[in-house]
Amino acid sequence: MGSKSDISEKPEEKVSLNFLEEIIEEDIRTGKYQGRVLTRFPPEPNGYLHIGHAKSICLNFGLAKKYNGKCNLRFDDTNPVKEDTEYVDSIKEDVNWLGFQWANEFYASDYFDQLYEWAKVLIKKGKAYVCDLSAEEISAMRGTPTVPATPSPYRNRPIEENLDLFKRMKKGEFPDGSKTLRAKIDLASPNMHMRDPVMYRIMHTHHHRTGDKWCIYPMYDYAHGQSDYIEGITNSICTLEFEVHRPLYDWFIDNIFEDPDGYRPRQYEFARLNLSYTVMSKRKLLELVKGGYVKGWDDPRMPTICGLRRRGYTPESIRMFAEKVGVARRDNIIDVALLEFCIREDLNKKAMRVMTVLNPIKLVIDNYPAGQTEMLEAVNNPEDESMGNRSIEFSRELFIERDDFMEPPPKKYFRLAPGQEVRLRYAYFVKCTHVEKDVQGNVTVVHCTYDPASKGGNSPDGRKVKGTIHWVNANTAIEAEVRLYDRLFMQPEPEKVEEGHDYKENLNPDSLKVIKAFCEPYLANAKVGVKYQFERIGYFSVDKDSTNDKLVFNRIVTLKDSWAKISAE
Ligand code: ATP
Ligand code: MG
Repeated sequence: MGSKSDISEKPEEKVSLNFLEEIIEEDIRTGKYQGRVLTRFPPEPNGYLHIGHAKSICLNFGLAKKYNGKCNLRFDDTNPVKEDTEYVDSIKEDVNWLGFQWANEFYASDYFDQLYEWAKVLIKKGKAYVCDLSAEEISAMRGTPTVPATPSPYRNRPIEENLDLFKRMKKGEFPDGSKTLRAKIDLASPNMHMRDPVMYRIMHTHHHRTGDKWCIYPMYDYAHGQSDYIEGITNSICTLEFEVHRPLYDWFIDNIFEDPDGYRPRQYEFARLNLSYTVMSKRKLLELVKGGYVKGWDDPRMPTICGLRRRGYTPESIRMFAEKVGVARRDNIIDVALLEFCIREDLNKKAMRVMTVLNPIKLVIDNYPAGQTEMLEAVNNPEDESMGNRSIEFSRELFIERDDFMEPPPKKYFRLAPGQEVRLRYAYFVKCTHVEKDVQGNVTVVHCTYDPASKGGNSPDGRKVKGTIHWVNANTAIEAEVRLYDRLFMQPEPEKVEEGHDYKENLNPDSLKVIKAFCEPYLANAKVGVKYQFERIGYFSVDKDSTNDKLVFNRIVTLKDSWAKISAE
């Protein structure tokens, strides 16, 4: 079972199982875990979650849900240097927002005592030793895949001495980096991770949860599998780069517990999500924030979950995206256009339509009486009748998009041009008669006449107009700030750069354009986070920077993909 990226396929039509579902169904059939399914999502609280994490969240929580199981949220907080409770809080908020509820909230640091005890078990079995080599020395002696590592001079330390030194490491008797605890495995293994990997390092660093209790901290490889074991995880799902760590994951379980028939968690790997025009590593995202390239973690151009949320993405659209991406076992790059497709799909059904003019030019209807106004009926969402209608005010002076007038008109231009007739959405047919220009020759006002018999936009005599344009009433329109976002990077693979160059050189200088727009007055009370379709333009969400006096909209996505075409083949 490979990746599912066929966008024409509806999730409910999907009959084939992905490889993880196959494994779980087989486990259920054979009674391996007595039918129990327990997954976990294990973020390190050292940054904000991004769309890649969302993929992992949807996968872990989704499998648990599908098989009546549970999913734990486990903070993998074994490296106190970069971790913070600010991140813990944001991660919880994001998982909840995506629509998932964890069975338990756990912290790897909750297991530090137990992990310490198990490390002593390995020492007592002669399977772990205290090593005085520095990180540089260990690395220099590692060998290559074909040349075995040089044994540490401390490899054969007596068990008693190891136990004593390990206890004193914990007590804080030794400075940072002066000693490590290493597993004693195989110095000739072609898998470098098996060449006596470090289990514990000394770090006299305050931890966001355990405070100053510990000055030795377990490494990921030692902590992760044992944490899975403690929680009773059945399927420990991680990304492909951990495939080479799996023998070590199993080695710890085998050598600590020596219970071949008993319960054991299993690690499975899937391809991490890569998105075109995006960088995803937390280190780089942090760099973009710190360097002021974006306006924070929740900048609507960021691939973070909070950035996507602020931009106007819905949880449903992100879950739909994760579903369509599927589960692959080979690395690939997903076109960001697929994510955009998903939000359009979702908002097409949900978002109220309104008319907003982003780049206005005045339209004067010369045969419409000055001072007269009338109310016209507009449909709130043609996809959803229950959303009803609203009234919009029409008068002699309107704003239309500057782009909707051209002189002379190019071929196949069906909008306004001298002598050409169009439909004003929900209103009337109008025919352009003449224009006013400034001294530079720019059109400042477009004049037209309307046909009173075409009220509602209906043809009075079977006469056809090819174009329909949107408008707002000039007297009552309200101003809003509209933030037009574009891709943050100009290259599909921004991290692919020549020697000596930096991915930041691929940043798109035009990723944000701020403009002043005119909206129909209906929007005056628009609430933060509410999404609208601006007819003929795109989907927009009310930004949290909005105040009582000023509305701010984020463009989530245009109505059509202007970069790449996703075909439905
Ligand atoms: P990054 O490399 O972006 O810093 P990370 O892997 O260090 O991410 P963690 O907090 O350790 O971030 O990840 C938590 C979980 O999310 C892990 O199980 C990890 O495999 C998964 N994950 C992280 N990035 C992706 C991605 N791009 N696609 C799918 N899953 C991901
Ligand atoms: Mg990580």
